Order: sequence, then C-alpha cells, then structure tokens
Amino acid sequence: MARPSVLVKTSLARRRRRPRCCVSKTEGSGTATLPSAEAAALAGVDGAADIRSPSLMVPAMQDCEVDATATAALGRRVASDETLTVHAGEKLGSGGEAAAGTDSIATPIVSGTTHWFRDSADLVAFREGRRESFEYGRYGNPTVKVLEEKISALERAEATLVTSSGMNAIVATLLALVPPGGHVVATNDCYTETRALIRDRLSKMGILATFVDLDDTEALESVLDQGDVTMFYADSPTNPHLKVVDVRRVAELCRRRGALVCIDSTLASPINQKPLTLGADVVLHSATKYIAGHHDVIAGCVSASEQLISRIRAWHHDLGGAISPNAAYMIIRGLKTMALRVEAQNRTALRMARLLENHPKIERVHYPGLESSPWHGVGRKQMAGGGGVISFEVASDMDGATRFVDALELPLIATSLGGCESLVQQPAVMSYWGKSDEKTKNGIKDNLVRFSFGIEKYEDLRDDILQALEKI
Ligand SMILES: *Cc1c(COP(=O)(O)O)cnc(C)c1O
Repeated sequence: MARPSVLVKTSLARRRRRPRCCVSKTEGSGTATLPSAEAAALAGVDGAADIRSPSLMVPAMQDCEVDATATAALGRRVASDETLTVHAGEKLGSGGEAAAGTDSIATPIVSGTTHWFRDSADLVAFREGRRESFEYGRYGNPTVKVLEEKISALERAEATLVTSSGMNAIVATLLALVPPGGHVVATNDCYTETRALIRDRLSKMGILATFVDLDDTEALESVLDQGDVTMFYADSPTNPHLKVVDVRRVAELCRRRGALVCIDSTLASPINQKPLTLGADVVLHSATKYIAGHHDVIAGCVSASEQLISRIRAWHHDLGGAISPNAAYMIIRGLKTMALRVEAQNRTALRMARLLENHPKIERVHYPGLESSPWHGVGRKQMAGGGGVISFEVASDMDGATRFVDALELPLIATSLGGCESLVQQPAVMSYWGKSDEKTKNGIKDNLVRFSFGIEKYEDLRDDILQALEKI
C-alpha cells in the first residue's frame, strides 16, 4: 500500500516512520544510488562501527542515532535498540483518523477485517491520498502497522512488510523482485526450503538460479560478470554451521553490477546485525524465531526502501499471506524483551562454545563468536553478538551423539530456534532424516548437534550439558 502523499491527520505512530539508512535504488534498473558509506553515514553509524563491541565476546547493544521525527514521542534524539523495541511504532490510540481511540498503553488488537467510510467523499479522499485508512485487512491493519514500524526502526529501514510466515516473506520478496528471465545467485548454505524454492520452483518460472559458496568471492564475481544477475540471496549466519557472509563486500560487488542483495538475517536477529546498514538492499527474517521469541507464533518480515517494499507488498496482496492482528500483537509483546533475550542468548552461547571447544568429548564447535572460527573476523566486523545458536561435532558417531542428546534434561528436542526455551537437535535425525544426498552435500555429519540456547541460567545449562557428555 503506497503511503499517501498528504495526510489529513497524522498520529505519532504514523509520523514516526522515517527513512533510516536504506540504500535507495533506481526503479527497475537495480542500480544503487547511494554507496554503502553514505548509507551508513545516513544511519548515523560509521562503517563497521555499527558494532560497538571489540569482539563478539561482550555483546554490547549499539546505540544508533535516530532522527528527531523518528523519536519525537521519546523526546530525545538518540534511541537505542533496547528503547526502540519497547516504544517504536506504538501509541496507536494517540489520535489520528485511523487510530484505535484508546489511551491504553498496550497496543490494541484491531480485529476488524474492513474499515468504513463516512460517505463517498470520504472514500474519494482516501483514494486521493488525503485521508488514511486501511480499507481491507489483507492490505493492512493498524496493529500490524505498529509491528511493521517497530521492525523498521530496529532494522534502520524505510519500510517493512510483516507476513504470515518467514517463507511467505521469502516467496513474496523473490516473486516481486526477480521477474521471469531474471537470475538469482544464492548461497549453497541458505535455508533448505529457500534453496528448494529457488532451485526447483523459480526455475520453472523462467528464473535462472546459480548457487555459490558463501565465501567464494571469485565465483560470485564471475557470475556477476555475466551481467544478468537480478539478486544475490544469502543467509547470514547460516544454519547449522553458523557461517557468515561478508555483507559489506558482497554489497559492493553487487552494486557495481546492478544486482540487489537480500540477506536472511534470522539467526542474527535485528539486535546482532543490521544488514541494511552494511549495504544490503533487503533484509528478511523468520519472525517466528528471535523476533517473536517465545515458540508460539509463526510470522515473517521483510524490510527495505519504501520503493522495494511497495513492490513486494503489491505481490503480497495477491499471495494473501496477511498475518492475523492477534499474531501481530503477540510479536509486538515478544519484541519488547528482544534486546534482553538476545543479549542473554549471546552470552550463554559464547560461554558454552568456549567451554565445549576445550572439552575432550567434542571434536569441533561452530560459532562465529569463537576466535578459532574461520568466520570470526567477518563476524566481529558486522555483528554485535554471535547469537544463541551453536553447533558442534561430538567425538563419537551417530549413536554417541544420540546418547548425548537423549541424556540432556533441560533442552527440549525440537526444531526451530530463538525462543526462551533451549532446544537441541541432531540435524542428521531431525532436518536431514532420509535425505542422505542433501546431508552429504551440506556437510552435515552424523555426530553434529545443534543447540538454540534460550534464556535459562547458564550454569544450569552448563551442568546439564556436562553430565550428558559423560553418557557418550
Ligand atoms: C525458520 C526459518 C525460515 C522460515 O521461516 P518460517 O517462519 O518457518 O516460515 C527461513 N529462514 C531461516 C534462516 C529460518 O530459520
């Protein structure tokens, strides 16, 4: 839904949406109009300094300058992520034509599917952009809009679309931004279903797909040299090996060739990484994970310039993946504690990774926060923390890893990540069960175990893991 050029009445929530540091693109051509340094400067961050922590060891939550209008209601110029997670986008009831008419602190769940007009002149005013309305629930909703503005503030994005699942955000983004005859270059390590979508389905729609290793800059450059690449798509960090894409580097290469860069930043959360400030054009999340944070709601989001999001929104209107206002409220509530949760998860994961790295029953730990990780250098340049997911190979076989997993008392055996409860899984048994070809291709070993740490006390998790390792 395009933003009306004239607003009759503007609520605080509405006024608060302002461009932060989106790199704007020329329509159609995909040519960047702002170099990343300029984009970063716009965001009030200087290059890699968006990340304040000298290493991933102390996950300092960076402050980021937000312009006066963006934080008018907060009454000051600078807002940190901790503050934005609580306040950005809120005060839905504080006035304005389409507001919910309440002074409740909690954002109201506006459950209506349709919005009425006083008379035909009122409808015409809406059509001409002189009056704001949501018209129909599939095109937008006041509660969902609060969530979109909150995520935009955290990602330093001009605009955000919230969807009914992470996959829905991914499908809408790819269909909207890559036309038939287009070319997607994706990394071998991206989310299994995204990879299958690009490889098996988009190819049937006349879209060329090329896969490269995420650190193979030469391969990326040679594909870009073909001159027809529409989008570079990557997850960072990846699942389950926690590899990291040098977003700034790929953004530079792609900008020169007019290709868009889209990053699935789910494993980082908006607290640990802000790809738009590094030069990416689009950032998306499975909001099911850290953003909602409680293993109780499925959702997705995609953030970019207003121009790109309006193209994705148009497709999304047809795909029909609108999120319910109730689910949107659950996420708004979950987001209030995201900075606190992620900070705790970063700390637990790093402490555990360091402990396990030196444990005789562990062969290798995958975590970008570890200095021994090949991804540490890039990670510390672009991330404020390593995240709550770690994986490691136990010094045993399939059965040994299973004995370890089964001996754990605290973490639950389950897929997914990013919630309050610690989860554990053996990818060979969970996501890759019966897929031996994929397993080999993705370097998934039988003795690999993946944890998503929750917010339980570190010492409790540590004691449990150490006792379970004795059972191998
Ligand atoms: C879970 C996940 C998805 C898919 O999101 P859903 O909300 O399950 O649709 C996409 N990318 C990554 C990295 C994920 O972890």
